[in-house]
Amino acid sequence: MPTTAPSSFRFARRTERLRPSAIREILKATELPDVISFAGGLPAPELFPVDDFARAAQEVLSEDRSSAMQYSTTEGYPPLRQWVCEHLAEAVNLRCSPEQILITNGSQQALDLVAKVLIDPGDIVLVENPAYLGALQAFDAYEANVVGVRSDDAGIDTFDLRRVIAQCPQKPKLLYLIPNFQNPTGVSMSLERRSEVAKIAAEQGIPILEDDPYGRLRYAGSEQPAIAALPQTRNCIYTGTSSKIMAPGMRVAWLVVPEAEVYEKLIPAKQAADLHTSTFTQRIVWRYARRPGVLEAHIKILLESYRRRRDAMLESLTEHMPQGCTWTHPDGGLFLWVRVPESIDTLDLLRAATARKVAFVPGQPFWVGGNVHNTMRLNFSNATEQKIREGIRRLGEALAQLAQSPAAVSV
Ligand code: PMP
Repeated sequence: MPTTAPSSFRFARRTERLRPSAIREILKATELPDVISFAGGLPAPELFPVDDFARAAQEVLSEDRSSAMQYSTTEGYPPLRQWVCEHLAEAVNLRCSPEQILITNGSQQALDLVAKVLIDPGDIVLVENPAYLGALQAFDAYEANVVGVRSDDAGIDTFDLRRVIAQCPQKPKLLYLIPNFQNPTGVSMSLERRSEVAKIAAEQGIPILEDDPYGRLRYAGSEQPAIAALPQTRNCIYTGTSSKIMAPGMRVAWLVVPEAEVYEKLIPAKQAADLHTSTFTQRIVWRYARRPGVLEAHIKILLESYRRRRDAMLESLTEHMPQGCTWTHPDGGLFLWVRVPESIDTLDLLRAATARKVAFVPGQPFWVGGNVHNTMRLNFSNATEQKIREGIRRLGEALAQLAQSPAAVSV
């Protein structure tokens, strides 16, 4: 029971940065079943490989028996670490050894742990602007000074990166990047940009944290190497996850840490947080992933379905968005990013859309150090094509109403 009695709790300074978000409060209203939501980053639930996971879980219980129930090592389940190496070599041309792999509780924990071992209060972390909210939260919790770098339709702008670094009062501690189908914009970095960024970071002695949850979800264009795999790259920590290619509820992800001194700091950092990632789910993920062809067949199903959903969203946007709106055309991932006319605040638009039972995330909190109010993130993986078309139609209506009489919207 909540109490109103005077409290003797005195919060740590860092909790001042952990504020509830106004947007999250509005979005709570959109969790009702009849709302068409483009808000979360949720995979399509009907595509989860439930039967294959049931078989893998059964195998773990009947073959691994009590060892699947026991505490285990912080580094992670050795066969899974070995599988991650093989997967990364094939998928992103990244060569690493199992000793460099740390299994984490989602890549969200990977971001938190890297920040935990590298960031002191006031340290500068460079991010693409706009940036992934979960990373901003992780960096904020360690009181980082997060600085945004301009990005465009080929990823982070290398001119601006040089300019920002030159203006920083101290050398940035970290450069955080999502080179494939970025959250929130859906934009991917070209190979030229990847190489240039790797070169700048190496010259300046700034380590890179490469976050790659979406790389396998490519619907068009050709595969790009991970920045961590480029010859120019020095000191790059890479993180990937099973969340978007298998199921996010498993909470199994991985960090690739080539430098032993960094790896050795991450181990006690993770120990302090959770001792280790679930013994049981690591083994289930491994049993699922190791069966020849199963994961690749599943990814193929995801690609076909998400490609159609992306196309449905792009077509509907063309049909229903009023003049003055622009949006990204992602080659993969789960999101696209819309810019509406300057006169419209997407927080007002969310209210108007919520009244029509459609939800999205206004772009404002993704922007670092800028008050950009006319952008929004749309997810296209979770709703069916039919719902996507209907949702975008309603969003177009809400926009048209707001464009006519911005002050008249009260919901
Ligand atoms: N990084 C990015 C860019 C993401 O979009 C997400 C999930 N939304 C994560 C990390 C965290 O993913 P998970 O913890 O499920 O692996």
